[in-house]
Amino acid sequence: MMFVEITAETPSKDSLACAYAAINRLLDAGDLAGVIAAWERLRREVESWSALTHLRFEQDTADEAAKAAKEYRDELAPTATHHEVALKRRLLAHPDRAAVAAITGAHALLLWETDITTFAPEIEEDLQAEAKLDSRYTALMASARIEIEGQTVNLSGLAPFLQSLDRAVRHRAEAARSEFFATNATAFDEIYDHLVTLRHGMARKLGFETYTELGYRRMRRVDYDAADVARYRAEIVAHVVPLVGKILEARRQEHGWDRLYAWDEPLTDAKGNVEPAGDEAFMRASAQKMFDAMDARLAEFYRMMNENGFLDLDNRPAKAPGGFCTSFPTVGLPFIFANFNGTHHDIDVFTHEMGHAFQAYQSRNLAGFDYLWPTFESCEIHSMSLEHLAYPQIGLMVGEAAAERYRRMHLIQSLAFLPYGVCVDHFQHEIYANPQASPAERHAMWKRLEAIYLPWRDYGDIAYFGGGARWQAQLHIYGMPFYYIDYTLAECCALQFWVKSRHDYTQALRDYVALCGRGGAAPFQTLVAEAGLISPFREGALKDAVAEAALVLAA
Ligand code: ZN
Repeated sequence: MMFVEITAETPSKDSLACAYAAINRLLDAGDLAGVIAAWERLRREVESWSALTHLRFEQDTADEAAKAAKEYRDELAPTATHHEVALKRRLLAHPDRAAVAAITGAHALLLWETDITTFAPEIEEDLQAEAKLDSRYTALMASARIEIEGQTVNLSGLAPFLQSLDRAVRHRAEAARSEFFATNATAFDEIYDHLVTLRHGMARKLGFETYTELGYRRMRRVDYDAADVARYRAEIVAHVVPLVGKILEARRQEHGWDRLYAWDEPLTDAKGNVEPAGDEAFMRASAQKMFDAMDARLAEFYRMMNENGFLDLDNRPAKAPGGFCTSFPTVGLPFIFANFNGTHHDIDVFTHEMGHAFQAYQSRNLAGFDYLWPTFESCEIHSMSLEHLAYPQIGLMVGEAAAERYRRMHLIQSLAFLPYGVCVDHFQHEIYANPQASPAERHAMWKRLEAIYLPWRDYGDIAYFGGGARWQAQLHIYGMPFYYIDYTLAECCALQFWVKSRHDYTQALRDYVALCGRGGAAPFQTLVAEAGLISPFREGALKDAVAEAALVLAA
């Protein structure tokens, strides 16, 4: 099937009410299997439409029709949730709960029990307002037109300059980025202020003390809590922050700089960060060779994605920034969205996003809609592990001569990401614990946390970021509250896959493919254990990986 052949019918309030009424009549009649089958079809249809509508907006944020369709989707979403939650409540209250679990699996019931606490009709308008604010943030970010080295670029296009080999260019790029946020400071502060107030209000309406517990529940976390996450952050401070500090200090000495500034951090390789060895066409073809050499299932799947139009990779003016993978469950096919900018980040499309896509594809026939994707920390294991598992073949993307430098750079960046990731997470815990904080107080919170997790961070003469505003460039803080820790939890697992692959590559890849096939059929720590990995919440989960990395980097 080609991507252009995928269509989805636009639902309405009436069509949803009608479809759910029919399902509820089946339930009244005692046809449990009929209920689950009809609901499964409907959820796949609505999700395919939602994913397609979102994707078209992200592909061209200036297209008024796409924008209107996305706004309609955002407005309709709470209605769909309303019906879903009502049905989940009925199924959870079913007199023969074991019969429900026999069809859907017990884990689905656990997820629904979480879901029903995150929604009530009283918050429908708040949810719509939240989606609108998120769109405003996306549009504001996409509006950036930054002048640098005689060119006009957007935020994605700034990346090559932020990691230029020329220190003065890096400085100018970071200053220009900060300047964009400084110029729009009022809007960025205001959007976030509205979001925090809205989210806190929703939490109170649903009976929670603060947004934090609601946020965890919206992420469908059923097997760990904020205390586990706090302990994990402390492990990063104990084991990873010192190693990253050493790596950065070595870099400072290597270059003979008297200080290492924020704009020096992205230059991981002294000869210049390794870049793809060719253009988009080259990378598409090289990725095929890479997957051919790794695994037949990966290879066949990638061929279909590439040849049938499921990759949108170039950076266009009105395209939303960032990259993601989405899927259309009516046809069981995923789609990858990216913004190529000529840097090594482009490689992530074929390693990171392909991991997500491969999992979605491997899980497409699992019994229930709730299992098509796992919770996000598990999703990111599929993506981040593939980044490490691609190491032996990465020469195809960057050229054999640069392969070792790429592996080293990627490993350093993976480690350096962990302190930043938990800083973003800790910040959000403080934000939602203090929802009345002023914008200035929020900036002070970030500054204080940066000193704990990124003690080397020095913004020099870049005033706005130096004053505690750097978090505004992290879109997850706006649009996906509490998501960010998931990347760090997943990296902890991905590094374990990396260590394994160094000792037995075939077994590591086999375990990886099996994990992808499990989709979301179990909660995070169960999936992790089944894949033979140590839960990040267990003390010492990072120990082996950090030791191995230190060894490899010292060599
Ligand atoms: Zn991802």
